[in-house]
Amino acid sequence: MGTIREVMHKKIRTISLLDMPAWLYQAESLPNRNFITNSEKELIDLVRKYGEFSKADLVAFTDYSRTKITSCIQSLLNKKILITNNITEYSGGRRSKTFSLNGNLGLVAGVDIGATSIDLAIADFSGKSLVRFSEPATVKDGPIKILGRACSLLEKMLKENDLSPEKMNGIGIGVPGPVDFSVGTLVSPPIMPGWDRYPIIQTVQQWFPSANVVVDNDVNVMALGEINQGAGKGVDNLIFVKIGTGIGAGIICEGNIYRGSSGCAGDIGHISVDKSGPLCHCGNRGCLEALAGGPAIAERALMAAQAGKSPILMRYYEMNGQVLHTEDVGDAAREGDAVAIEVIRESGQYIGDVLASLVNFYNPEMIVIGGGVRNLGNLLLSSIRQTVLNRSTSLATRDLHIVFSETGPDAGVVGAVNLAMDYIFTLSEGSADPTGE
Ligand SMILES: [Zn+2]
Repeated sequence: MGTIREVMHKKIRTISLLDMPAWLYQAESLPNRNFITNSEKELIDLVRKYGEFSKADLVAFTDYSRTKITSCIQSLLNKKILITNNITEYSGGRRSKTFSLNGNLGLVAGVDIGATSIDLAIADFSGKSLVRFSEPATVKDGPIKILGRACSLLEKMLKENDLSPEKMNGIGIGVPGPVDFSVGTLVSPPIMPGWDRYPIIQTVQQWFPSANVVVDNDVNVMALGEINQGAGKGVDNLIFVKIGTGIGAGIICEGNIYRGSSGCAGDIGHISVDKSGPLCHCGNRGCLEALAGGPAIAERALMAAQAGKSPILMRYYEMNGQVLHTEDVGDAAREGDAVAIEVIRESGQYIGDVLASLVNFYNPEMIVIGGGVRNLGNLLLSSIRQTVLNRSTSLATRDLHIVFSETGPDAGVVGAVNLAMDYIFTLSEGSADPTGE
């Protein structure tokens, strides 16, 4: 895993060279902007990820001099972005002050729009979650209804918790389809009629005019949540794999999301696994998604059950009113059902095959597995691990960790809050510092 020092270098590089999305320029004109320099951003990111810091920590974890750190801290204190905490610790016989983000500076919201749900969270400026809410929703109902619902729920959550809408400075939104990040719109999303190029940012800003709105693909958002608040903290090169109804990957490259040239990097669900396999909704045969996505797992299990091979699965099927869910396969496996165990093991192999190729190609430090099939448990994880280890080069797997997501069902909202926080501070123009180091 990268040291904090390495993480920080990556951050600097990204922020200064990142292609600024069009909406970010507009964001500068929004109310309540907090302008910062590159090195201030670097300190903020460090505090965001690792919590409180003393001046000595910041000197130790960066390449900046004490003088430089002192001036950055003073500037951030003046801007009320950092606050000084009560002195509680002794360091080398002296009491040392610690600094953390000023939670009261404003509010950020995370919105995770799923195929069948809306998940929302409101956090303070330190990223601490204040309110959380979820409800079922159908993304096929279209953007007007879904975004309207999400915004009115946010308004209600603010009101019920005595939080001011004017303090809402950032809203991160994850959506289940390919996103053109430069303008924040979906592009031909397969499961979302009406959403193609719909102006999500402008719609949400009509409700929250002071908020900088950022939209990204849900898997990218989850990956972001994982490196900021989950298993991937401090990891520079990571792949987050979401396995649910569909399968997709969020790629973290040198500490940042890698989106590719048109924003659809990581669409691993349609990598071919078996050319004579089942037909996929994309029109091809034997895609990973068609073999190892949640519905595919349930269907293979159901076929075996209907062929009389598994009374346990058949019992779940009858109990549900002639439906078999992916979770039932996990439950049956836990009861020791041989068919369910085999179906899960086989799915792990399909996923592992694809991940092994990604590991050979990309050499990540960590693969995080998240999404609905997480509840298939360690059986799935160990099958994936085994296949990746068998099929990747030993150098690539020497330090590779394959783990379940730590943010779990909150991955989407946690990630969306972090997406908003990534863009909540505006880098002042030519933000190289005058004291330059
Ligand atoms: Zn496909």
